[in-house]
Amino acid sequence: MKYYSTKRQTSPVNLKEAVLKGLPADNGLFMPEHIPSLPNSFFEKIEQLSFQEIACEVAHNLLGEDIDKDKLQEIVISAINFPAPLVSLSDTTYILELFHGNTLAFKDFGARFMAKLMGYFVEGNTAALDILVATSGDTGSAVAHGFFNVPNIHVTVLYPKGKVSNFQEKQFTTLGGNITALEIDGTFDDCQALVKQAFLDKTLNESLNLSSANSINISRLIPQSFYYFEAYKQLKDKQKPTVFVVPSGNFGNLTAGLLAKKMGLPISQFVAATNANDIIPNYLQTGSYSPRPSIQTISNAMDVGNPSNFQRMLDLFGKVEEMRNQIIGYAFDDEQTAKAMRTVKEKYNYIIDPHGAVGYLALEKYIKEVNKDINGIVLETAHPVKFAEVVSPQIGEEVAIPERMRYLLEKPKMSIPLGTDFEGLKDFLLKK
Ligand SMILES: *Cc1c(COP(=O)(O)O)cnc(C)c1O
Repeated sequence: MKYYSTKRQTSPVNLKEAVLKGLPADNGLFMPEHIPSLPNSFFEKIEQLSFQEIACEVAHNLLGEDIDKDKLQEIVISAINFPAPLVSLSDTTYILELFHGNTLAFKDFGARFMAKLMGYFVEGNTAALDILVATSGDTGSAVAHGFFNVPNIHVTVLYPKGKVSNFQEKQFTTLGGNITALEIDGTFDDCQALVKQAFLDKTLNESLNLSSANSINISRLIPQSFYYFEAYKQLKDKQKPTVFVVPSGNFGNLTAGLLAKKMGLPISQFVAATNANDIIPNYLQTGSYSPRPSIQTISNAMDVGNPSNFQRMLDLFGKVEEMRNQIIGYAFDDEQTAKAMRTVKEKYNYIIDPHGAVGYLALEKYIKEVNKDINGIVLETAHPVKFAEVVSPQIGEEVAIPERMRYLLEKPKMSIPLGTDFEGLKDFLLKK
């Protein structure tokens, strides 16, 4: 299978190149040329399959031409090594817990899969691969953990100073080894812009073997489609329409859901839930795309003012009318989000994180305004403890850090401070 650029100014490439390059030279995003439909037999027997078997089947259909079957199976099984349970709050409201991985957020799925796949593609290379990643919090920790100790790969994480939680920061600044953290005196958008500029810089590309690991890498997107199938499998009543509510920032998670639907998963509706950074809900309403600087919120992993996967969404749909048929967008402010965390605790005795809370609000609104008779599935993108500073005051109790994570708080932070000036980053990378 070939992967084309959404800008179509470069020739399509094979999987290895798409994964290692991350971004096409024309600054578009890679997309698979063909999204295969899974056979009916797969959906008929889905309830008998384990999550790993489902993931292998989906991966094989998408990537089977590009990687040897046994090797692909080995990659999928080592990457998807934790569950995605569906928790029922009521007849209409389900929570898909995507936080059972190493860094307690859904990004572990994409990052682990990408790390294993890249590790496979660089086996036996002489020059190391340099991965640059901008993070507003969770990407950095998931990528750092996914790649930690993968031979032949070095990772540089750029994160906005003072804008990620203490616990998040510890997750990517304490590993050392092949992981370096750069603390940028700016916003997440500045970090993302620096990374984009690095990929377009001639000198850097001549001296280094650069690659990206943001949600823009196609190998992050593919495994994120697996758990949509896994969620569907766990629904008891499959007759009702299935609605996925996706708390969104860069829209990688939602785009992965669109792939799952294209592969034949019966999803009747997507709800794009955002915080005050309502670029996509606004686009769906007005038809005009107006990116702007990000606004800081309590659901900070979604503080994105120019969602990078918009290009892919546009590519899948062509025009806004088509997108509107499948996606409804709702946005909520911090006050509403805080209240939702309290409501969910009081009503269901469930502790939801601020991102999931934005999703919960969107599902509530959808049920009220559009359709009551559904299976509504909110993607719970992170464990509430990752945002304990925000969650605890709302629910009036401490959110405990899982035992296996406590050691992190004791570890010293190792990061290198830099400004938002590109020359500074370039110097650093060339001297490293
Ligand atoms: C990254 C992230 C999101 C946003 O996901 P996108 O794929 O960028 O839309 C939502 N919640 C959490 C906890 C995240 O880490």
